[in-house]
Amino acid sequence: MNMNRILKATLAVALLGSAAAHAQEPQVLNLYSARHYYTDEALYNDFTKQTGIVIKRLELKDEALLERLRNEGPRSPADVVLLVDAARLASAQEQGLFQPVKSKILSDRIPAQYTGQDGLWYAFSARSRAIVYNKDTVKPEEVQSYEDLAKPAMKGKVCTRSGSHPYMLSLLSGMIANIGEKKATEWAAGVVANMARAPKGGDTDQIKAVASGECGVALTNTYYWVRMVNSDKQEDKDVVSKVGFIWPNQKTSGAHMNVSGGAVASFAPNKQAAVQFLEYLASDSAQRYFANGNNEWPTVPGVKTDNPALDALGAFKADVTPARTLAKNTALSQRILDKVGYK
Ligand code: FE
Repeated sequence: MNMNRILKATLAVALLGSAAAHAQEPQVLNLYSARHYYTDEALYNDFTKQTGIVIKRLELKDEALLERLRNEGPRSPADVVLLVDAARLASAQEQGLFQPVKSKILSDRIPAQYTGQDGLWYAFSARSRAIVYNKDTVKPEEVQSYEDLAKPAMKGKVCTRSGSHPYMLSLLSGMIANIGEKKATEWAAGVVANMARAPKGGDTDQIKAVASGECGVALTNTYYWVRMVNSDKQEDKDVVSKVGFIWPNQKTSGAHMNVSGGAVASFAPNKQAAVQFLEYLASDSAQRYFANGNNEWPTVPGVKTDNPALDALGAFKADVTPARTLAKNTALSQRILDKVGYK
């Protein structure tokens, strides 16, 4: 063997070695998630089993998560971002934190109502925003719609979380789509005029304040109510016994629907794996898991969940305003709330 051949042989062995080392290194997907449910974990493990791709997770609250992405900029290791609420997806989209995804699986399975503009995000579960009322102080026929909360009969009885919270922004965004900016503004002003107290706390706090009688009527995302209905704690059972649940706007636009959604991060180092993960979330089994984990509904049509407490809320008319319209109206909603002094 001359020197040249020895060199070539050595090089070949070295190359083989590095290829083998590379093959052993598992492919990684960096997931930034604002969701943190036990069942989501089972989902991630299943994805790894199916694809060999290992998920590295960073769980942060929504605002902190967006701030992290902003600060990391092009150096961000984030591949997939999971957020809740159209208003938050809107804000991330606005800040350029997502990149568009073209996928036949996603566009075939996720309805247009639940798809972001230009494929910038996809919603994988849906929740609704419902009315809860105190059975002793409010009659159910008085609070059949969001609009009813702004009527004089509810003076001093209405409680909500902060108007600037994404859940309230998105509700108003839906009302802008359904009744127009002018009426939506009057509605927001009417709710402010009817408040039992300054907005504070989360949705569960509103349900409790309705039960205690401090508030006559409030708004809550459905999963908070279902969580309370499912609770084994006696104090939660007492709360549930005093509170009535209403599907709003059944004679008009239907109950406001919002989403949990995912997107591929702008600078995703593993874009292909990221798309693969979003496609996986749209599969039947993942849809069931993802929705059930937080007492939500799957966004893929025809996928059924087995959730008795959620089913017990009964069939209802859902608002079909696209989540991307809610997203688009978010900035206007904030301006309206500022104008009418909805803190
Ligand atoms: Fe929530």
